[in-house]
Amino acid sequence: MRTHYCGELTSAQVEETVTFCGWVHRRRDHGGVIFLDVRDREGLVQVVFDPDVEDVFNTADRVRSEYVVRITGRVRPRPEGTVNPNMRTGEIEVLGKEIEVLSASQTPAFPLDNYSPVGEDVRLKYRYLDLRRTEMQEKLILRSKITSSVRKHLEAQGFLDIETPILTRATPEGARDYLVPSRTHAGEFFALPQSPQLFKQLLMVSGFDRYYQIAKCFRDEDLRADRQPEFTQIDMEASFVNEEDIMGMTETMIRGIFKDTLGVEFGEFQHMPFSEAMEKYGSDKPDLRIPLELVSVDDLMGEVEFKVFSGPAKDDDGRVATLLLPKGSELTRKQIDDYTKFVGIYGAKGLAYIKVNDKSDLENGLQSPIVKFLPVEVRQALLERLDANDGDLIFFGADKANIVNDALGALRCKLGADLDLYTQEWAPLWVVDFPMFEKTKEGHLTALHHPFTAPSCSPEALKAAPEKALSRAYDMVLNGVELGGGSIRIHDPAMQQTVFEVLNIDEAEQQEKFGFLLDALKFGAPPHGGLAFGLDRLVMLITGAESIREVIAFPKTQTAACVMTDAPGEVAPEQLRDLHIRVRKPVTEEK
Ligand code: ASP
Repeated sequence: MRTHYCGELTSAQVEETVTFCGWVHRRRDHGGVIFLDVRDREGLVQVVFDPDVEDVFNTADRVRSEYVVRITGRVRPRPEGTVNPNMRTGEIEVLGKEIEVLSASQTPAFPLDNYSPVGEDVRLKYRYLDLRRTEMQEKLILRSKITSSVRKHLEAQGFLDIETPILTRATPEGARDYLVPSRTHAGEFFALPQSPQLFKQLLMVSGFDRYYQIAKCFRDEDLRADRQPEFTQIDMEASFVNEEDIMGMTETMIRGIFKDTLGVEFGEFQHMPFSEAMEKYGSDKPDLRIPLELVSVDDLMGEVEFKVFSGPAKDDDGRVATLLLPKGSELTRKQIDDYTKFVGIYGAKGLAYIKVNDKSDLENGLQSPIVKFLPVEVRQALLERLDANDGDLIFFGADKANIVNDALGALRCKLGADLDLYTQEWAPLWVVDFPMFEKTKEGHLTALHHPFTAPSCSPEALKAAPEKALSRAYDMVLNGVELGGGSIRIHDPAMQQTVFEVLNIDEAEQQEKFGFLLDALKFGAPPHGGLAFGLDRLVMLITGAESIREVIAFPKTQTAACVMTDAPGEVAPEQLRDLHIRVRKPVTEEK
């Protein structure tokens, strides 16, 4: 139907007769001459219709925004002074000779020819129109380049693309499952995979050696943060490898993708133990673009008369930490109040601070509601430890360690963003040496990664002190975002048994949930490990999008629904009967 895309016409085609198809982006009537900007995925081209051929002119006059047209015309240089250097096609225009309307359009729900702020619900309802906008086209085109780069780099390293089932059993990533009722097995359900974890391990047992898949994963979580119920992972697994091998291979891939798509070259990634990340950044995904660090001062605060500090300082689970903001004295009362509210979200009961006005005057040079509680020696030691200077501001967190870490860790990122403290554009790193387990609120242990992650100690040591055990897991972090994570797996049935014991998963439950994996481990399982990257987050970072919804063609809303297709929806009674299901609707409370 066409000889060219609209967006690829340049001076190279001058004097040629070309045919292209696309959407009418804009129509202008310049006193007897009609200008149409016609758009396709490659860009826009300007077409001019003179009134000399009447029916052609009348058709051009009749078309409206978003009509689909096919145009034949002659490419010519734009008249002097009308060249647009910002457009690929900006040096030329097309003199229209024929125009055919392939499809008419109603007036779209929002204009597409200029930026207009439209609510996300409207954009999602008319997603097919929203996706016509250049920014959205660019993001999805870049997404496609990224997945193609992923495949190129993994295939170059010998990874095979193998699909794993979508209708399966629960997979152990710790979220709620999406269930699918079985028609042929009354009362039984499939679960959609939270990840291909177990299957990729089985593929290693089968000897495929290196597997990857761009895999859909499903997790029925509360969508508080920027999450989607279905999302995409770059999932991989390899045999006869240790953690250095996996980190090396995946780092090569990520470096390759950034080079291919943005032309950015990363140096070698730093490796940071989990304990250091928590100590200095209060987070297991530190944003190293921000040059602020948490510093512990428990040892200085144990004996002060201020219980808010001395309590947590003496508590084994507590922490007193500072965050020094250079030149922070310039913050206003209002700003500090806002930051106090902000840390409240993370459970902090307040946000103590000291403004360092004159560090040589320990009596009167420190300005703060709490300074009177700190003996002069403590003030002195504090300023020395933090290397504080006049004009700096010191924030404090004092509480259970996890609250302090969450609150000051988040404050650090917020200050970085609000005050634009970034020192570099990209800050990738590996976080390593994670603990094997964490304690739930109810006090029992759960796997920090998943229960197939190998510990870095022996089964005996693991049993003796599970809370101290470290795992062979690793996370790749970029700009404070966890891009991916994985681990070396347990390939020894006895070790797997020990982990289940520590987790209090009894024999019956083990068999019920993962019997097939435990069996497989008995038939010659190679040492293996892997990792999964969140593709949506990766694309979000590379495209600079604000949310993962911006880089997914048809995302769900915050309530896990699709406003365009109106899914989820009710189904016919016969369908329910086939599935052996009787629906019990929640009783809605009377207002
Ligand atoms: N299956 C893990 C996840 O989804 C990744 C991995 O361990 O490879 O987080």
